[in-house]
Amino acid sequence: MNEETRQNLALGLISVRDNQSSPVAPGVTQLTLKFVNVCFVAEPNSRRWVLVDAALPKQEKKIITWAKRLFGDQAPTAIILTHGHFDHIGSALTLSRHWQVPMYANVLEFPYLTGSMPYPPADAAAGGGVISRISPLFSRGPFHFNEVLSPLPDDGSVPGLDSWRWLPTPGHTPGHVSLFREDDKTLIAGDAFVTVQQESLHQVILQRTRLSGPPRYFTQDWGQAFESIRLLAKLNPAMATTGHGPPVGGSLLTNELERVLNHFHDDHMPKHTFMH
Ligand SMILES: [Zn+2]
Repeated sequence: MNEETRQNLALGLISVRDNQSSPVAPGVTQLTLKFVNVCFVAEPNSRRWVLVDAALPKQEKKIITWAKRLFGDQAPTAIILTHGHFDHIGSALTLSRHWQVPMYANVLEFPYLTGSMPYPPADAAAGGGVISRISPLFSRGPFHFNEVLSPLPDDGSVPGLDSWRWLPTPGHTPGHVSLFREDDKTLIAGDAFVTVQQESLHQVILQRTRLSGPPRYFTQDWGQAFESIRLLAKLNPAMATTGHGPPVGGSLLTNELERVLNHFHDDHMPKHTFMH
């Protein structure tokens, strides 16, 4: 059995909510593909829309079908990446070529997206269950998006979306970003935090709404990860969609963010890791 087959077998186990969409906020739709979410974001009073993240490889057909359902033949203005992990960028290049649209990411994520550097090896001992243990099978890149990739603007604006801004939320990866719409306090958090305990197959299958820090096996800097969640909590988001798990909002979101921050060191970090 080769590496890709083993990875697909493992990931095939966790596709319970595959191809299901959930409304997040006006104009914002989350689509779950296998165990990861992408987000369609429409600009109000216009035909413009943007795709945030691009799932695993070979998901482009499903994403295109959903895009047609939501926006007809209108292509997106851009594809925005919260970060460059394999499960968020897998279909990005195919989609970018298909729609002939640019892809944007934080410039700090560029080494992994332009062929210079792979992500560090996954931490199989990160704990929390079977997904951590199989994580060394996941692709670490680097990926080669040079032909279509541009840096997100320095001023925090989001190409194609006037009412949103992006903010750096490093820790899970150095160039990880979140998107925020001040008007109704909608947050797209990527993997800064997630709404299912991603390491645990059991939790992923049940898709229980319980906030968790970033997926452990791939998180590079736990001190930064903590500060990023603190920053996002301070925004007082009313609704959040994340890279893994269902959308969550209201007092559940507020209380869960507080719980994660209060128990971050004990419950959300690998036992053998220290914050520096
Ligand atoms: Zn990730």
